[in-house]
Amino acid sequence: MSEVFTFGVKSGQPYAMIDITGEVQKKIRESGIKEGLCVIFIPHTTAAITINENADPDVIRDFLMEINKIVPISDGYHHSEGNSAAHIKASMMGFSETVIIEDGRLLLGTWQGIYFMEFDGPRIRKVHVKIIEG
Ligand code: ZN
Repeated sequence: MSEVFTFGVKSGQPYAMIDITGEVQKKIRESGIKEGLCVIFIPHTTAAITINENADPDVIRDFLMEINKIVPISDGYHHSEGNSAAHIKASMMGFSETVIIEDGRLLLGTWQGIYFMEFDGPRIRKVHVKIIEG
């Protein structure tokens, strides 16, 4: 058995890391699936999904600061839409994560959270969650 859920994420700023762990966990609860896999996928080209620390908000601050140094916002890019940096960061980070489900819960580490990463906001985005029993 498997189920697909979709929920929205509203990013209020140009760059953001939004903790969506609770929302994903809620979908697992709704599915009733106790053991299996959870795939979190986003249908976007200037945003990403990642797993990282959810305890100290400074980790997010540092992350966004450094990734803008690795891929500068302006750098003589050719893409006319003006958001090449966001496209590059999105592909570097990736568009999905897979997490094991055990006893109806995401088998994340104590300090791990699932983050939606906005690189070209503010926008209203979608997150698809596929929950596979097994
Ligand atoms: Zn573009």
